Amino acid sequence: MSSDLRASILDPAAIERKLALNNYNVDRSRAHIEIIDPETCLKCVRQQCINCCPANCYAPMPDGHVVFSYEGCVECGTCRIVCNEFENVLWSYPRGGFGIQYRYG
Ligand code: SF4
Repeated sequence: MSSDLRASILDPAAIERKLALNNYNVDRSRAHIEIIDPETCLKCVRQQCINCCPANCYAPMPDGHVVFSYEGCVECGTCRIVCNEFENVLWSYPRGGFGIQYRYG
């Protein structure tokens, strides 16, 4: 493996630079992902959605709740998988014509 490739893999800012190249047509009338019951997040010790979402769509609040914003979602489905203890994520793709438009990969 070349040192340039290795450096790009280890670069923590690389994902942010790639995501910044994408375009989003945000559907303001319909969130394609929702937290079903915000109070359920208080029972979840791991809150893996926060750690696993590559687009940082989930953010922890000081009181233990989780705030979600769908606008920057890359539609990878990770949060749907990792919220397997409480199944508290209602997940669907955006309507046709909305969502991410990839510019890199
Ligand atoms: Fe984040 Fe992927 Fe879930 Fe979108 S589908 S909110 S990018 S983990």
